[in-house]
Parts: sequence; structure tokens; C-alpha cells
Amino acid sequence: MDLDILKQRAKAFDYLFDAVVVTDIQGTIIDWNKGSEALYGYSKKEVIGQDVSILHVPEDFNHVTAGVIASVEKMGKWSGEVRMLHKNGHIGWIESMCIPIFDDANKMIGALGINRDITERKTELARLHSLAHYDQLTAIPNRYSLLDRLEHLIAQCERSKSQFTLLYMDLDKFKIINDTKGHAFGDQLLKEVALRLSKLIRQSDTFARIGGDEFVFLLENTSHKNDIAVMAEMILKELDRVFVINDEEIKISCSLGVAIYPEDGSTMDALLTAGDVAMYKAKQGGRGTYKF
Ligand code: GH3
Ligand code: MG
Repeated sequence: MDLDILKQRAKAFDYLFDAVVVTDIQGTIIDWNKGSEALYGYSKKEVIGQDVSILHVPEDFNHVTAGVIASVEKMGKWSGEVRMLHKNGHIGWIESMCIPIFDDANKMIGALGINRDITERKTELARLHSLAHYDQLTAIPNRYSLLDRLEHLIAQCERSKSQFTLLYMDLDKFKIINDTKGHAFGDQLLKEVALRLSKLIRQSDTFARIGGDEFVFLLENTSHKNDIAVMAEMILKELDRVFVINDEEIKISCSLGVAIYPEDGSTMDALLTAGDVAMYKAKQGGRGTYKF
């Protein structure tokens, strides 16, 4: 090839915005460009001869390597989004492509990685996901997540002919607490309630805040009324323990309405309404209790 073309390519290699990392077959870094210096924080001098694993988050390295090898063997290249490790210890995200390098005998002798920083995009996506799916005050799932989960659970239980329980919960006389202690105090109390009750449920269950002082539990594979009663009692007991907000002790209670799929309803609306109606009966029954 013409020497001028080679020189121009070498220059382009250095001035690409993308970070290019070249390794030998053992994974030792043998070349890299200025884009890599900017992305990873190491100078060329520092990284040549080092293992490429220094650019990865340690716990990711083995599965990323396995994925790259499998994909290169099957499709001749690999691309994906992975975490990266900066020299200063900071963890970010890159969009990456890896292409094998062959010698004249067509034997693989190394790999070329082209990497682009997508940390900002990932952070923004995570922020949007959190806004869409989680209640911003209590950090538990929001109404949208609850409906989504409920829809899936109905479809799943329809197929498997199994049951599940929806528990509709509303705090008792919460407005008085707000009015006498202030909104910030009420907010803090809602956070503490969510924190306490989140610990009660199994991993497969859902606990969401769907409105001001309204919460909903979805309990999978619960069919016996006794088991549901035990869970309802546990929730009531958990809330019965005194809360301490800003060094001030406060006692609260809640009312719970039980709706069982499919006997109390087989659609989202029917179940939520059945739960709400049962909860209202618990309010009328003197509050601090549950009703089927
Ligand atoms: P009941 O026993 O009948 O449920 O009485 P209640 O006072 O709890 O009445 P209700 O459930 O209708 O009122 C809920 C109150 O929750 C109304 C509002 O003052 C308060 N609230 C709603 N959203 C928030 C919030 O985000 N933060 C705070 N601090 N209070 C809220
Ligand atoms: Mg209430």
C-alpha cells in the first residue's frame, strides 16, 4: 500500500472519537489510539503490554469474554453494551464492537475493539425508567408498574389455572396526621411505611403505591383464606409498631381489602374494584382491620 495512505490511516486511527484497542491472542494490549486514552484515562505507554481485563469491571470480565469468543466464532464479530472501568476506578458504559485479526495463514492472532462511551445515555435511560416505574417518594413500584404486573399475573394464572391475591391498603385517618404534623412529616411517614412493608413480601410478590395513602400488594400462589388472613394480620401488626419521625413517636393503622383471582374478579378493573370495596368495608368496620 502507498506510504501516504498508510500514514493517513495511522493519523485517522489516532484522531477517531471512538476508542480503539488492539490486543494479541492472549488478550495483551498491543496498540491503542488517543480516543482510548480519553475514554479509559491511561496513556498509551501505561497500557501497552497490560492485560485487556484492566479495562473491564472485574466481575463482568469472564462472561463478557465468553460472549465475545462465542459470537466471533459464530458470526465473525461481536457487538454489545458492556461496563467499562476507568483508570480512576469510575465505572461507565460502552457500546463496543470486537473484530478478530487474522495472519496470512488465516489464523486468528488478535482482536480489534472499537468502543464508544454511552454512560450518559445509560444514566438517562435508567432515570427515565425509574420515573416511569417507581413512586418517587417511597421508591417502591408505582401505579403503572402495578397495573403492568397485574396484567401479567392474570395472564399467567389464567394459563396455569392458579390463584393470586390482591390486597388493597389505605392508611387510616392519614389526613389528620398531615394536617396536624405537616405535609413533610406525612411524606416521611409514607416512606417509613413503604420501607417496613416492603420487607414483608416475598421476592415474587409486588408492593406498590398507587395513590396518596393507598398501596396494593399482589401475592402470588395464595389461595387459602387462612394464609391470606395470616398475611393481612402481619401487615396490620407491622404497622401497629410505633413509628419515630423526627424524634416524634406516632401510631398509625390501615384498612385492608382482600380480592382473590379469579373468584372476586378476573380482570384488572374487577379485582381493583373488589379490593377497594372490601377495603371500604374494613373502614366501615372500624378501621385497623381487613375484610374479604
Ligand atoms: P381514611 O381513614 O378514611 O382513609 O381517612 P384519611 O384521612 O386517610 O382519608 P384519605 O385516605 O381519603 O386521605 C388521604 C390523604 O393523604 C389525603 C392527603 O391529605 C394525603 N396525601 C395524599 N398524597 C400525599 C402525599 O404524597 N404526601 C402526603 N404527606 N400526604 C398525602
Ligand atoms: Mg386514608
